[in-house]
Amino acid sequence: MATSGPSAIYIHVPFCPSICPYCAFHVVVYRAQLVDRYLAALEQEIAHYQGVYPDLVVETVFFGGGTPSMLRTEPLARIMSQLRHWRWPENVEVSLEANPVTISLETARELRQMGITRLSLGVQSFSDTVLRFLGRQHDAATARQAFQCFRDAGLVMSLDLMSAVPGQDIDTDLRAALELEPDHISVYTLTPEERTPFANLKIDPDAEAYAFLRTNTLLPQAGYEHYEVSNFARPGRCCRHNLAYWENRLWLGLGPAAAGHLAGQRRINYRLRQYLAAWEESRQWYDDIPLTPQDRLKESMIMGLRLREGVDLERVQQFSGLDPRQVYQREIANLVAAELVELVGKRLRLTERGLWVANRVAQEFV
Ligand code: SF4
Repeated sequence: MATSGPSAIYIHVPFCPSICPYCAFHVVVYRAQLVDRYLAALEQEIAHYQGVYPDLVVETVFFGGGTPSMLRTEPLARIMSQLRHWRWPENVEVSLEANPVTISLETARELRQMGITRLSLGVQSFSDTVLRFLGRQHDAATARQAFQCFRDAGLVMSLDLMSAVPGQDIDTDLRAALELEPDHISVYTLTPEERTPFANLKIDPDAEAYAFLRTNTLLPQAGYEHYEVSNFARPGRCCRHNLAYWENRLWLGLGPAAAGHLAGQRRINYRLRQYLAAWEESRQWYDDIPLTPQDRLKESMIMGLRLREGVDLERVQQFSGLDPRQVYQREIANLVAAELVELVGKRLRLTERGLWVANRVAQEFV
């Protein structure tokens, strides 16, 4: 990794075929005219950072959203060739999030040809009833076809599932996912987010606990390494880009509402309308939030504890200038006594028991 600056690049693509009732991301319904303005702004933003960081060596790129697979392949290829103006080693990981309704084998091949290496497919469930409840536009058969298209095109395949959805049979969903033999599986609990139609949805805590138990049992039994609280990978197939977040390294966040982590600050881009207006009027398109040493320490602990191997305390000290063993002496002692975390060499990591209450453990470092 280049040490002087960011080497991970996140690109937010805020367009979706429709808005799912549980979604709290910054997204809008796809409109061709908005997309054209978005692409023009994004290309300017990339050019801007190529001036600021001319020596950047790209390690990973992640097209997230939103539904990046809704972009036509021609502008996507243009963005890819613009990104290649930076130094671009052989093994750059380029991930793209895809919605099963947006895919054909021809598109999948074009994505592979332009240098996309990894596909994250938002399947969520293999039950058509659950998919309808979630407001998804695809059914299980479409998801399987889309998966096969990408696999046939030679992409590393990551499959996203949701858990604790009312009416879901998690065992059936996990088994259906395993039958497809993806390289990577992410399983996130359905969370009722404020200001979404699902805000008042009640999640059954027993269903949530059962899903957690079955996920953490069936996937490792099938040979997947549980490397982050919600993520599982076949050997060598962890998402390197997401590791940059969990290890709290530096990254560029491009596109509307994208958050970046630059030396000493968090940079948050304006949301779509303001972002477009800012670029069209040659104004600033982001807010910078300075990060104090305490902020860096806190963020590194919270993100790093999500990794099953734990957070590297020496690295956190180097990065923040503060010694987490001193600052959090009491918290760490209490959590160790409660058998929720353990110290292994220079790392602090969640125990099996701590994994069940990972969010509550993280709260101790806020
Ligand atoms: S497809 Fe994903 S990003 Fe788009 S609205 Fe649904 S959940 Fe949100």
